[in-house]
Amino acid sequence: MVEKKPAPSQRPHPEFTHAARQRWESIPANIRQLLLANVWCGRCLQEVTITHSGGTIERGDLVLVGQCSECQGDVARLIEGP
Ligand SMILES: [Zn+2]
Repeated sequence: MVEKKPAPSQRPHPEFTHAARQRWESIPANIRQLLLANVWCGRCLQEVTITHSGGTIERGDLVLVGQCSECQGDVARLIEGP
């Protein structure tokens, strides 16, 4: 089951795969907020908030992908698996 929502922006943004969403939702909400709010952006050279995020599982780790809240560039964050 994949939820489809109309994209709010002109740019298609990444979606969570089923496995990635399950992993993401197993993380407590307060931790998820922290993870979303301190993603390193290589263009801004600072920690930023990731927006329009989606995710995949790569080699057992959850990889969040999305846009930098400051420069709208692509950012990603790896969250190591258990
Ligand atoms: Zn940025």
